[in-house]
Amino acid sequence: MSPGVSNPLVTGLSCLVCGTEHEATLSAQLCMACEGSSDHRDPGILDVQYRYEDVELDRGRLARDPGVGLRRFAPVLPTALDAESLPAGGTPLVPAPRLAAALGADAVWLKDETRNPTRCLKDRATAIAMALAGTSAQRHVYCASAGNAAISLAGFSAHMGFNAHVFVPRYASRTRLDWLTRYGADVHVSGGDYDQAFDESVVVGMREGWFSRNCAVNPYLVEGKKTVAYEIAEQLRWTAPDVVITPVGDGCTLGAIGKGFRECELLELTSGRPLLVGVQAAAVPPIVERSGSRWQRAGAAKTDAASIAVRRPRNAVRVMREVAATNGYFVSVDDEEIGTAQADLAAKAGMVCEFTSAATFAAARRLARENLLQGRVVVLVITGGRIDEPQAPPAS
Ligand SMILES: *Cc1c(COP(=O)(O)O)cnc(C)c1O
Ligand SMILES: [Zn+2]
Repeated sequence: MSPGVSNPLVTGLSCLVCGTEHEATLSAQLCMACEGSSDHRDPGILDVQYRYEDVELDRGRLARDPGVGLRRFAPVLPTALDAESLPAGGTPLVPAPRLAAALGADAVWLKDETRNPTRCLKDRATAIAMALAGTSAQRHVYCASAGNAAISLAGFSAHMGFNAHVFVPRYASRTRLDWLTRYGADVHVSGGDYDQAFDESVVVGMREGWFSRNCAVNPYLVEGKKTVAYEIAEQLRWTAPDVVITPVGDGCTLGAIGKGFRECELLELTSGRPLLVGVQAAAVPPIVERSGSRWQRAGAAKTDAASIAVRRPRNAVRVMREVAATNGYFVSVDDEEIGTAQADLAAKAGMVCEFTSAATFAAARRLARENLLQGRVVVLVITGGRIDEPQAPPAS
């Protein structure tokens, strides 16, 4: 196989910022036309384009497909997935009747992404990265991460015999570092936050010529994440839910989910799409602020929602566009609300999830207080299941 994008229906890459079209090569990253331009604050993120009229994906075909996880959606993915890859995706949609009653909603469903191979939705993007890297001779892969993307990359690399180089912030928890060590990753702990770790990863990764699993920059990875939307629609018997709530850091995850639901409608798998709600922590709410949302909580000094504590979101344009297209909104919640939500998800729905993912239920509570969820079918995307132990204070 020639290295790179193997789906013949991929027609190219389109810049989300300036619209320039690019060839869908394996090494494509940010838009060159945008690079160095001082007109805009956003990097030129590229979006994969398909010849949708030739995509063969219908309800019957999917119902008969015995494949596992992401592989079922191959016609709308950039590359074929190896049957021997760790099985990302194919996670359950769990009903939560007691949460529905608490919110006055018609139904609440939890998309349980904690059931992915490394306990997190990130595995859907990693599966694509590994498939693409696997078509080249490159056996070194890298990413920056608050923890989950790094652990995901480390796990898949361990499985395939690749070298994973991961860049994590200074405050990465012991729990997360331990997972990385178990998987045998090469761990670079930054002196700064996630944003600094990101910059450091790009410098070293580019210098060494490693394959990038930085989701915002590698245009192909969000394609893996969009399969969450297809699965939710299928699990609801091809009806779109009314509202889908997801935590937002860089914006790749919810942006991808928006694209997935748009494609479901375009391919006539569903009629209609859900209203999208993105959640951020009150301490780090750049996208909530930028969207001018009225759902802003007053600022807090810090947050334990480490997986979404991103000060310079790289995929803001994508996620803001997808959310606006559904008349949705961005909401910020503080750590007290998230803590209560995390406890309730366990005690009233049997769902143990990481702090960041509980922000979805905290946001649902706020919307419910204004009767916005009355009679609605609501999906909370439970993005991850890694519980961080409380951190010991750093030794001075
Ligand atoms: C990465 C992550 C998110 C947010 O995804 P973005 O693509 O950065 O917006 C949410 N929850 C968990 C558990 C994550 O690891
Ligand atoms: Zn551009």
